[in-house]
Amino acid sequence: MKVRTRYAPSPTGFQHMGGIRTALYAYLFAKKHQGDFVLRVEDTDQSRYVEGAEEYIIDSLNWLGLQPDEGVGFGGDFGPYRQSDRKAIYKQYVDQLIESGHAYYAFDTAEELTAKRKEVEKSQRPEPAYSPLFRHEMRNSISLDAKEVAALLAEGAYTVRVKIPAHEEVIVKDLIRGTVSFQSNLMDDKVLFKSDGMPTYHMANVVDDHLMEITHVIRGEEWLPSTPLHVLLYRFLGWEDSMPAFAHLPLILKPEGNGKLSKRAADKLGFPVFPLAWEHPTTDESSNGYKELGFFPEAFINILAFLGWNPGTEQEIFSLDQLIAEFSIDRVVKSGARFNFEKAQWYNQEYLRTKTGEELCNDAWTAKPPFVGEDDKDLVAKLCDLLREKLTYPADVWALSTYFFQRPSEYDGKTVRSKWKGENKDKIKGLVDQLKALSNFNALDIEKTVKGYIETNSLSFGNILLPLRIMLTGVKGGPSVFEIAEIMGKAESMQRLDIAMEAFEKMTSES
Ligand code: GLU
Repeated sequence: MKVRTRYAPSPTGFQHMGGIRTALYAYLFAKKHQGDFVLRVEDTDQSRYVEGAEEYIIDSLNWLGLQPDEGVGFGGDFGPYRQSDRKAIYKQYVDQLIESGHAYYAFDTAEELTAKRKEVEKSQRPEPAYSPLFRHEMRNSISLDAKEVAALLAEGAYTVRVKIPAHEEVIVKDLIRGTVSFQSNLMDDKVLFKSDGMPTYHMANVVDDHLMEITHVIRGEEWLPSTPLHVLLYRFLGWEDSMPAFAHLPLILKPEGNGKLSKRAADKLGFPVFPLAWEHPTTDESSNGYKELGFFPEAFINILAFLGWNPGTEQEIFSLDQLIAEFSIDRVVKSGARFNFEKAQWYNQEYLRTKTGEELCNDAWTAKPPFVGEDDKDLVAKLCDLLREKLTYPADVWALSTYFFQRPSEYDGKTVRSKWKGENKDKIKGLVDQLKALSNFNALDIEKTVKGYIETNSLSFGNILLPLRIMLTGVKGGPSVFEIAEIMGKAESMQRLDIAMEAFEKMTSES
């Protein structure tokens, strides 16, 4: 049997990275077993539909290279893959359940339902209001006589509810959690279908997983409580033999492990929980995304892979192909997975180090400051190479390299005063003359010249190198000053040295 997994998001908002991790695990599992990965959009709850959410899901998968074999936007033989386009399919299965006595019509109004809920709550019974023990007390085709039912059905406002059997233990076999048992008396007679012709999530989900021949349902832990109902539906519909295997993934937790990593929690901690940036179409909510922050898709995949799974070895860096080869559900953990933003940045740096200067330059280019010219690409690629170890994101290059594009407008006064004086001043001038005479103005020759000069004159490195750096860049820290000079080029470096000497002179004579 061919392995088929699916990612079945609801377009009710923008997918949190937990959702994308579900997609990744479903993808990895399918690919590992030469199977198919399906994207199904579960949009039965039209009232919660958010414009743009479906595109967001597809864009996120595309960014990460998790290409579905079938699904909304990808074609395939089991379509349509959007549940609202499958509306006509569900009714026959709902009718089948009613005919076989596993579902029934219910006519309770919202007020009646609330009243019952309150009553049960007050009595402190653990059973839900609409459940095997209480359904007789409600208005439905079980409690009312046939004539009344026919009249109410003719009025047209009804729901179809599943008839949960009383006093049964429903067993869910989960590939991650093992055997989980549920008492049927504590389950509710969930609504499966509404008179507007739309199935609810549970009904559509089970019918579609069956019709789409899904073999493994991989989804978040929050769906585990729904699974006994799904198991019963497979049984009631006669599909128990081909019921998919279930695997419920652990929650993604805040860095300290104290609760779910929600958007609100992450906002407070100063990092996003979304793959891509978004703006809500109707509220003023928005969020930044990992892509826009400067994360590489490979890094983001690697981060997500480790949120709940580990290879059992020390290896931390995995390409998508390596993940496909190594991934197994057996190594997915039950307990919540803490998300650590610093560790996520570490992954990005690891990937950043493997990129060429040109690649980093291309990634950083859209964020280039106005003082960088269109024809500066070669220079920026060199700067990316030079500064690679200091970058977390490609666009960090701009803040670290401003002085390559703009001559210093001021110099560190304290350093200038301590170095531009007496004999040291003359020594610096002497060095500048030697550099002027240098015909091969490359880092190695500059370094040889400077070091030779320091040694021959028995000078201290700090007294010469620091002022030299400040003359060229205006600041104290940065990469090798010899490399900086080479990249600036001889003409520019010499001009800067001249300008600086004049400025230093002025600064020290004033004080
Ligand atoms: N539509 C559900 C969601 O939004 C899918 C749950 C499942 O995978 O069965 O997460």
